[in-house]
Amino acid sequence: MPELPEVETIARGLAKRVTGDLIESVWLGQKKEPLKSPAAQIAKALEGSRISSVRRMGKHIVFDLDPAPEAQKLSRSKSKSRRRSTSQGLAKAGQALHSASHVQWIVHLGMTGSLRVCEPQSEIAKHTHAILKLASGRELRFVDPRRFGRLSVATAFDAAGVEPLEVDLAGFVSLFRGRKTPIKSALLNQKLLRGVGNIYADESLFRAGIRPRRRASTVTRDQLEKLYAGLQQVLSEAIALGGSSISDYVDADGEEGFFQLQHRVYAREGEPCLVCKAPIKRVVIAGRSSHYCPRCQK
Ligand SMILES: [Zn+2]
Repeated sequence: MPELPEVETIARGLAKRVTGDLIESVWLGQKKEPLKSPAAQIAKALEGSRISSVRRMGKHIVFDLDPAPEAQKLSRSKSKSRRRSTSQGLAKAGQALHSASHVQWIVHLGMTGSLRVCEPQSEIAKHTHAILKLASGRELRFVDPRRFGRLSVATAFDAAGVEPLEVDLAGFVSLFRGRKTPIKSALLNQKLLRGVGNIYADESLFRAGIRPRRRASTVTRDQLEKLYAGLQQVLSEAIALGGSSISDYVDADGEEGFFQLQHRVYAREGEPCLVCKAPIKRVVIAGRSSHYCPRCQK
């Protein structure tokens, strides 16, 4: 499952490829699960709109859309004229006004979702649930074999929680005050922090010397400061690694070349700790595997 750094990398890769492009038409598949908003609503919001930016919010990819004025005006008439209006809207793309009705296309990749920028003649992969025809001649396709991914439209999307790379230290520390849950569960709680998953939670707890099962409320301010630094460090390192292979993420073949941060504890059960050589332990907390060094983490 893509975590924050992967989603950030994917969003940056998409931003480079499709920002400024116009969505001429939208095809949506028959499967209901991937559509969190009604199909007609998604199609209406996307068709004729210009992609003004692509960014990550938590584990969501947010496409900010500017309705092209011409297409917007004509989209109320029948679909035949809408098709025509798209090319007119295209010609006027340069003059597209910023409209008050700012719309966003929100994509959550779930477990196996991917967004691929394809040439129109390239074969349509199995499990393709959405195809956006772009004015540049390319297509943006959403493919998701396991269908945990979600597509929706919104006007002022705001994911719960704070961005781990944007929150300040005081804000970070306050998230854990009075929490009786294990610190690991608190890190994974998407209502507190956006986008932190299992790998980066384990890796940041190791860097901070905190056992995953420790009650969040008992972790000292000093340790929370280390956790704050550790979390920002692992996320930034992973994003930096991903940045160098950005083009591999959303290529036409859908090859997923996810980099891997060198894990210090994650998925290293029984292997020696890189610091003290003690064997790494694994425990299950709230149904998730947690890895830690019994000597380095208290
Ligand atoms: Zn150790």
